[in-house]
Amino acid sequence: GMPVEPEAPESMAADWDDPAPVPPASYRDMPPETVLDTVFGYQTFRDNQKMVIDTLLAGRDAFALMPTGSGKSLCFQIPSLIRPGVGVVVSPLIALMQDQVTDLRQVGVRAHFLNSSLPAAEAARVEAIAAGGQCDLLYVAPERLLTDRFQRLLSNMKLALFAIDEAHCVSQWGHDFRPEYLQIASVTQRFPGVPRIALTATADPATRRDIVEKLHLAGAVRVVASFDRPNIFYRIRIKQNDKRQLLTLLRERHGGHAGIVYLRTRKRVDAIARWLREKGIAALPYHAGLDAEVRRRHQQRFLMEDGLVMVATIAFGMGIDKPDIRFVAHLDLPASMEAYYQETGRAGRDGQPAEAWLFYSLADVVAMRTLQNLSSGNEAFKSVLQRKLGAFLGFCESPECRRRGLLGYFGESYTPPCNCCDNCTEPVDTWDGTIAAQKALSCVYRTGQRFGAVYLIDVLTGRASERMERLGHHRIKTFGAGQDLEPKQWHSVFRQLLAAGYLDADMAARSGFRLNESSWNILRGEQPVRLKKDPEPVKATAGKKSARGSRVTFSDAASSALWERLRQLRLDISRELNVPPY
Ligand code: ADP
Ligand code: MG
Ligand code: ZN
Repeated sequence: GMPVEPEAPESMAADWDDPAPVPPASYRDMPPETVLDTVFGYQTFRDNQKMVIDTLLAGRDAFALMPTGSGKSLCFQIPSLIRPGVGVVVSPLIALMQDQVTDLRQVGVRAHFLNSSLPAAEAARVEAIAAGGQCDLLYVAPERLLTDRFQRLLSNMKLALFAIDEAHCVSQWGHDFRPEYLQIASVTQRFPGVPRIALTATADPATRRDIVEKLHLAGAVRVVASFDRPNIFYRIRIKQNDKRQLLTLLRERHGGHAGIVYLRTRKRVDAIARWLREKGIAALPYHAGLDAEVRRRHQQRFLMEDGLVMVATIAFGMGIDKPDIRFVAHLDLPASMEAYYQETGRAGRDGQPAEAWLFYSLADVVAMRTLQNLSSGNEAFKSVLQRKLGAFLGFCESPECRRRGLLGYFGESYTPPCNCCDNCTEPVDTWDGTIAAQKALSCVYRTGQRFGAVYLIDVLTGRASERMERLGHHRIKTFGAGQDLEPKQWHSVFRQLLAAGYLDADMAARSGFRLNESSWNILRGEQPVRLKKDPEPVKATAGKKSARGSRVTFSDAASSALWERLRQLRLDISRELNVPPY
């Protein structure tokens, strides 16, 4: 999950200025398909919606685990209309609650909300409407649900169902934990005949178990949707000149399209947004360091206007429901598979073809490996952190179907080819990199495990410098031993060795690459190494390619971004392990 900002709604007046919509004849006897069509204007149910709706209409509890944007709301809205009585919806965010109520009223549904933004008199009016049965859906904040006053109201109302939206908020160690959610079961228990539905897009097994336990849903019908997003094309490329690569992408593949470009630091967001605008691309920056008013305006423009490119940190995206985002590009590695899935998932909500692009470099891999070495103390934490980072690097470097890798991580099996990812449509060549790996690792060892890729590649390719001669490294055995490969290829070798864990790096200590146990297995010839040939960039990049590749540096911005990423990962891990954040 993303950080939840409990922000006040824009206009709190909406609920009482509008006259209550006139209710249509009656939804009561309509089949769900007819309600879908006549009220919401959609022709067909999406996967799983019908199943959840039928469960509730039969009076049974349901637990819906469906991805963001898959249409969970209709799963409780339609049964609330068809069943007699009011559907009570518990929702954690005032802003989301208000948006849904506004949308429902626009299609003539009698929807209301009760939360702290309403003046007492207005709340009393809503309560009277609900008690009088002139309400189809009543949205409440969890703290409101628990009040004595609301308990009395519930007893006076005819109830269609209880819906608990964003049900992962019940899980204690998640990002979005809401203590009030723990009390929900004690309220719904008082109405055993009223069906309940819990909904969430959060997939990890620990949270799933928590939801079932804390909301007393052991007997609920579970509907678990596939997390596949078949219309998203996944593509992962090596970063060379990321600005140029991005510009090529925007000009040649996404001219005039709406999209999001994710970057790790605010500084990079500002710089790249400005640069894109200079190049004639309609780009806007978004990050938590911008004025709240600027952020609001940029978000609004992105939603309302066509073809804007949002250049943003991960602060952007939560609750964004823009169906026609045609691409999401990551110019820095996301924190984990979960983050990648969530962020790329904002593309193509309308079901039309969309693309997820990820560009990364040796420097990104070094940063990830540094994170893996950072955590100390708690062993359980350390091992999950290493697994998560390792999983993502493995995914990036893997020659297998991206869709299979991504879904497999979430426990869903998938039979490739998907024909909708880079590895399926342009299969990657691999080569026997054992000798190259031995040369590279040996060079690391013989130069004292103090240097990064740039220097090591100079030694391997036999480019002596004054410094190298001073250190005597022009006389070691590996000097010039790697002239069979281009510097760019050596760059790729080092990246892949680091990503696979055959080599260690620790930027924080400002030390060079270091050997580990796996390195020695390779050096001893006990472990063959299969390497990938990196695919060419998007198209030939304009401008000169750096022969030496990107430099591995450790700026303050990179450092703080690294710590921020570690913080997010720790939260993820605490949820997975069901322990407090460490
Ligand atoms: P979730 O809560 O799962 O993130 P929402 O309920 O907010 O998703 O729905 C996302 C979007 O999908 C909304 O714009 C909604 O109107 C649309 N939608 C839902 N069901 C259908 C359907 N059967 N056909 C077309 N659009 C749908
Ligand atoms: Mg929702
Ligand atoms: Zn594939």
